[in-house]
Amino acid sequence: MTALLSLRNARVAYGAVVAVEGVDLDVGEGELVTLLGANGAGKSSLLRALSGLEKLEGEATFLGRDLHTITPADRARLGLVHVPEGRGIFAPLSVEENLQLGGLRLSRAALAAAQKDLDFMRLDADAFAAWERALGPEPLDPELTAERFSGIIRGSSSAVKSILMDQKRLAGVGNIYANEALWRARVRPARRGAQVTHPQCAVLLGELRAVLTESIALRGTTFRDYRDAYGGRGGFAEKLQAYGREGAPCVRCGAALAATHAIEGRQTVWCRSCQR
Ligand SMILES: [Zn+2]
Repeated sequence: MTALLSLRNARVAYGAVVAVEGVDLDVGEGELVTLLGANGAGKSSLLRALSGLEKLEGEATFLGRDLHTITPADRARLGLVHVPEGRGIFAPLSVEENLQLGGLRLSRAALAAAQKDLDFMRLDADAFAAWERALGPEPLDPELTAERFSGIIRGSSSAVKSILMDQKRLAGVGNIYANEALWRARVRPARRGAQVTHPQCAVLLGELRAVLTESIALRGTTFRDYRDAYGGRGGFAEKLQAYGREGAPCVRCGAALAATHAIEGRQTVWCRSCQR
């Protein structure tokens, strides 16, 4: 088997902070590989480094070429691209969700080990099918009707924002897009799903689709020091009206935007005055 992607002793560091160290990996043609690991294990860092968004140290070959000599734009063209918070790779998912993606039920001891270290799992066709079945519908799927969406949101007493981000209920909605869609739809992120009305659900689905569509058209969202695979800031970052604007005036009503980490530990930014 010829390895399409091969890593030896890969390392990713942010100054003195080492995010990934000593990683060996071979991915052959047609193989599907998922990364396992808790927040902080280095899933995102390794994916960003592979796509050229971060500096990758160690030996790396891709399609028989030294990966370091391939520009980020060429890597993207060849398909080696990091889709932030997207469905294509699994960086935003928790350890448990990553394990479920592999279609495996690991022992508690194996789970504890996975939480400490970055690991890889090869998926065969059955495991991949199990992963797809475990995910909810994608918001852009035309088969997701307003009624079905409403059923998903109103069928839970969790905060509407955590329902949006639950991959088992809806696939591929990341934190940024959840914040933006809720702001646009004027729905308070902590509101219980069961208390969001049918008309509000319809508006929310429309705004969620608009946010995702605009973001795709503008090549995603990047922040602060991150650069996208094309060497520039993702165009959608300029369009954000909630995420990253805590303390700034709401562009709709002028009230200062509030921020909290109370929902799933992720940053939530919302307007106390016009989101209900
Ligand atoms: Zn407002």
